[in-house]
Amino acid sequence: MSPPVPGSIRAQFQAIFGRMPTVLARAPGRVEFIGNHTDYNGGAVLGAAIDRYVWAAAAPNPAGRWRLFSVGNAAVLELPSDPGTKFSGTDSWVNYPLGVWRSLRDFSLPQPPGFDLLVDSNLPPGAGLSSSAALELAVAVALTSLAGKTDLPPAQLAALGRHAENHHVGVPCGILDQGTSAFGRAGHLVHIDCRGPVFAHVPFPAAAHLWIFNNRGKHALIDGLYAQRHEECLAAAKALGVARLADLTPAQLQARAGGLPPVLAKRARHIVEEQARVQETVTALQRGDLAVVGRLLTASHRSSQQWFENSTPALDQLVDLLEQHPAVFGARLTGGGFGGAVMALTRDRFTEADAAEITRRYTTAGHEREPEVLHLQTADGARRIDWLPRAGVATRTDPLNGEDGSGSSTT
Ligand code: ADP
Ligand code: MG
Repeated sequence: MSPPVPGSIRAQFQAIFGRMPTVLARAPGRVEFIGNHTDYNGGAVLGAAIDRYVWAAAAPNPAGRWRLFSVGNAAVLELPSDPGTKFSGTDSWVNYPLGVWRSLRDFSLPQPPGFDLLVDSNLPPGAGLSSSAALELAVAVALTSLAGKTDLPPAQLAALGRHAENHHVGVPCGILDQGTSAFGRAGHLVHIDCRGPVFAHVPFPAAAHLWIFNNRGKHALIDGLYAQRHEECLAAAKALGVARLADLTPAQLQARAGGLPPVLAKRARHIVEEQARVQETVTALQRGDLAVVGRLLTASHRSSQQWFENSTPALDQLVDLLEQHPAVFGARLTGGGFGGAVMALTRDRFTEADAAEITRRYTTAGHEREPEVLHLQTADGARRIDWLPRAGVATRTDPLNGEDGSGSSTT
C-alpha cells in the first residue's frame, strides 16, 4: 500500500513560509520495465512512470531569497548567493533543486528571481524508483512556472533534469530516469531509443499490474561493477567491429562471436539479445499479449543471471518464487543490478496476500531482510497541476487541499 500522502500541501506551505503557494508541480518515479544496460550500448529501453510522486509547491519570494523545505526534514534551507556551493550530509538533497536552478541558466531558460519551495513525496528515496529524477522534474516545472514559462516540452524537461544530475549533482545517469518521468502517460510505457534520444509511448493494459520487491541489498562495490560492465561492453563492441553492441542482431552476433574472449562473449550476448527483447516486448504489448511480455521479462532476468552476471542469489530467488505464481506473467531484476529490486508483471488477481506469501517464502528460505513491497500502476509524466482557487472551498479534487493529496486535478 502507498504510504499516506500529505493532506494539504497548501497548509504545510503556509505553515512553513507564512503564505500560500502559487504553483504546484508533480513528477512521477519510474521503473525500468525492460532494457537492461542497453542505454549506453546504443539500444532501447522501456520505462514505466509510476503512481508515486514528488510534489513541489512554490511561490515567488519578493526579497529575492531562495528558500527550500522538504517535508520530513527539520529546517528550511536557504541557497547561498554563490550557486557553486555544494551541500553535504542531511542537507545534500538541496543539491538537486540547486542543480536544476543552475541548469535553467545553462539551458537559457528563465530563472525566478527569488522563490520559496516545498517538496513532498510518497516515493521512497534510494529504492531504484528514481526519486532523484522526480525531484528534479517537479522542481524544474515549479521554478519555470514561477518564471512564467509553463510550456516546457517534455524532451527539454528530461534533458534539463539529466543535466542537473550529471553536471551539478555529479551522478552519471542515462536518460531513462528523467525521460520516463517527463514522458510518462497513464496506461502506457515510455519507449526510449537512447541514440536520439527518441521517445514514444507503448500501450500498457489496465488489467496488468506492476509490483516491486525491493530487497534493499546493494553490493558495496556496485559503482565499480557497473563501470566494469560498461568497459566490457565497449571492449566487446570494439572486438566485433561495431560502434555499439545494440547495432547487432542476435544472428549477426552468433556469426561473429567465435573469436571473442568468453567473458566478452557473455556480455555481448546479454546486450544484443536484450535489445531484441525490448523490440519483441513492444510488439507483444501492441498485441496486448501479456503472456509473451511476461516470458520476455523473465528471459531478461535469466540473461542477467547467466550472461551479464549482474544478478544476486537473493534477486534470483525472488524471481524463482514469482515465476511459479499463476497470477504472475513474469519477473526480472530492474535497474543496474548487483542487488536492488525485482519487478513483477501480474494479473489483476495478484493481491497483497499473494505478495506477502512470496515474501514469507523468501524469508523462510533464509534471507534475513524482508523485501519492501510496492504495488504500482502506470502514471502521467511531470506536469504543473492547475489549481483554481475557490474562496473558502476545499474539495478532494483540489490538489492543494485534497484529503489524499493525490494531486489529480479533474475539475
Ligand atoms: P533514487 O533516485 O533511486 O531514489 P538516488 O540516490 O538517485 O536514488 O536519489 C535519492 C536522493 O534524492 C535522496 O538521497 C535525496 O537527496 C533526494 N530526494 C529524493 N526524494 C526527496 C524528497 N522528497 N525530499 C528531499 N530529497 C529527496
Ligand atoms: Mg536517482
